[in-house]
Amino acid sequence: MARYTDSVCTLCRRERQKLFLKGQKCFTEKCPIEVRNYPPGQHGNTRRAKVSEYGIQLREKQKIKRIYGLLETQFRNYFEKASRQKGITGDNLVKILECRLDNVVYRLGFASSRKQARQLIRHRHIIVNSHLVDIPSFILGAGDIIKIKDKSKKLDVIHSSLKKMKDSTYSWLTIDKASLSGTFMQVPERADVPLNANEQLVVELYSK
Ligand code: SF4
Repeated sequence: MARYTDSVCTLCRRERQKLFLKGQKCFTEKCPIEVRNYPPGQHGNTRRAKVSEYGIQLREKQKIKRIYGLLETQFRNYFEKASRQKGITGDNLVKILECRLDNVVYRLGFASSRKQARQLIRHRHIIVNSHLVDIPSFILGAGDIIKIKDKSKKLDVIHSSLKKMKDSTYSWLTIDKASLSGTFMQVPERADVPLNANEQLVVELYSK
């Protein structure tokens, strides 16, 4: 499967915003956004021409796609799915993204970034409702229980991530740190999802 392999910090600098793609580093002063909050490249720090409406929509789409660690085709497919559902397409899109297993493993604190969560899943450390699932894009439904496989419960990466996890909790998730398990209670409402992005611009971009 195609993957993005360059430095992910350049993605944040391109969006001039922290996208929290590197786990703990994102919360330290080593985060490049803290020192060089301008786009990468030779002319990144020079004044830019006014950005067109298309440009603004494109940047917002790139931002959301990068936050969730998706490639264009996957993201577009989610958009198509969202547009076929009832309700507001932008809201539907965010809700679908939030149901991905890699996102939930990250939000539960088992991994310090979505990228690390994908690695845990692909390396077969995650159980969903008693079944081993090694597909990061697996879509969870209300009531699904996510656990760390017994043999993997001693993994340092999981414990250090849980230790460093901020106290913020999510209303649609419950977590039991002692048993390393969590429940996806329900699909979250868009308003509850801490995503600093305007998904409506994505709808406008793809509707052209
Ligand atoms: Fe983005 Fe994190 Fe890198 Fe900072 S450290 S630029 S927030 S990925």
